Amino acid sequence: MRPRSRCYVSHGHSDHAREHDRIVTTPANARICTSRFERSIARTKQTSLPIERPRPECAFEEHAFNVPWSDGRHTLTLFPAGHVLGSAQLLIEGEKGRFVYTGDFKLARSYTCEPAEVQRCDVLLMECTYGRPHYLFPPRDEVENAIVDFATQALADGCAPVFFAYSLGKAQEAMAILGKANVPITVHGAVHAIARVYEDAGVRLPAWERYDALTYDGTRALIWPPSGKHLPKALKGKPTRTAMLSGWALDKSAPYRYGTDACIPLSDHADYAALLRYIELARPKKVLLNHGWNDFAWRLRRMGVDATYLQANEQLSLF
Ligand SMILES: [Zn+2]
Repeated sequence: MRPRSRCYVSHGHSDHAREHDRIVTTPANARICTSRFERSIARTKQTSLPIERPRPECAFEEHAFNVPWSDGRHTLTLFPAGHVLGSAQLLIEGEKGRFVYTGDFKLARSYTCEPAEVQRCDVLLMECTYGRPHYLFPPRDEVENAIVDFATQALADGCAPVFFAYSLGKAQEAMAILGKANVPITVHGAVHAIARVYEDAGVRLPAWERYDALTYDGTRALIWPPSGKHLPKALKGKPTRTAMLSGWALDKSAPYRYGTDACIPLSDHADYAALLRYIELARPKKVLLNHGWNDFAWRLRRMGVDATYLQANEQLSLF
């Protein structure tokens, strides 16, 4: 997370993407990072918060999927993670074998990003956000139907349907799902900015309107980032129904935690079964884990997989 002179950035979510002097990534993620960094700079200036350090000018070293390049003793290749548009896993090949870092990934289908690929490797470093057995997402059709039903029912009852979804990835997927069912869509400015990048990259999205407090009247599904949880101005005092789109919807406590009328498990991550499936396909000799649950390592070891959960300091020494 600290600025580096040269750093591989797997995808544009803010818990993974920071500014560095030189960012190694895919062309689509470079566009996404640029858009997000610009927005965050604009926001900082708007609120006139003190800027702690001069922001580095980011340069991007772009590599297309599955086009290897050499870095001295190693060959490196980015390949699709299926998480959000342009999200990349990294394969490093050298004398000692093949190493893969997954970054965030999912194996399930998506309308708006490249399907994930799995490479055979000797050492696998994978995320395990949903690495507990009860995290099994329902079939994708069920999830899509739940989203469409929520919107159409709310509109039929004279309520504005509001979906809370990350502005990068989840929101565009929700747009595609609602658009397929001809539900009219309005989106927050942050969602709009990323949707433009998606369209420029060739992703087909349904028509949408950008939220405007003066014109939004509650007769269209609204897609809003979860970070701005309070409802938009235009909905004050109007009948509204809210739904959180997140894999955490599988937690019984989710509706209380999010304070929404519904929680629908649309996720950009692999569920427990998909994490196991990935290991089965990649056939690594050693699995290293991060971004998730310590006890997933223990479960894997009981299945005969040599697995270790990495603590932050071990991650540093690994690299
Ligand atoms: Zn992510």
